[in-house]
Amino acid sequence: MFVVGLTGGIGSGKTAASDYLAGKGITIVDADLASRVIVEPGQPALGLIRERFGTGVIAADGSLDRRALREIVFADAAERQALEAITHPAIGEEIRRQIAASTSPYTLLVSPLLLDTSQHQLTHRILLIDAPETLQLARTTARDKVARKQVEAIIAAQMPRQARIGRADDVLLNDGLLAHLHQKLDALHQQYLALAADHSA
Ligand code: ATP
Repeated sequence: MFVVGLTGGIGSGKTAASDYLAGKGITIVDADLASRVIVEPGQPALGLIRERFGTGVIAADGSLDRRALREIVFADAAERQALEAITHPAIGEEIRRQIAASTSPYTLLVSPLLLDTSQHQLTHRILLIDAPETLQLARTTARDKVARKQVEAIIAAQMPRQARIGRADDVLLNDGLLAHLHQKLDALHQQYLALAADHSA
């Protein structure tokens, strides 16, 4: 299976891009969704989290109390690493399972942390949705009604734009109309179909 990894900073347009390619019949594997699936009640990772962090992070209905867990890991890098040692392998496994189940000509793995985790190793090609910070800010504050300062803090904590650009095979600058984003994606889609055909030949 030929896998294209799609990544980008907050509000860059990852969802806009993946929605468009989904409309062309491409299977989308969403790492954010996978990260939620693996901590659902009954999943092994949730049991490991309870063992490591205690019953205080489990809500009365047996689900993960994200807020309680966030408070523990927020200020403590060692605790955060302990959590990631549980979740990252489980997320990777869930992503691999979904990729294996995909029947579209290629599969799109959408992940904000593609380049920060080993998830990029599951891909054959990396597409970066790139946008200037001013647009990331404008789009995210308009979409989520969150404070500008909060979005600025997230942008500052994410991988710098130039570092991301340096690691991508394809960089799509999403700084115009949605119609322009779609046009650029049309061309990349044709390229990925050809690469996928070569890959399976
Ligand atoms: P996040 O990392 O926060 O999930 P994202 O990278 O998935 O963000 P989107 O949700 O796709 O980003 O885009 C952010 C907002 O900007 C959305 O409301 C989207 O509709 C809008 N948007 C994206 N690209 C464009 C564009 N080219 N023109 C106008 N609006 C856009």
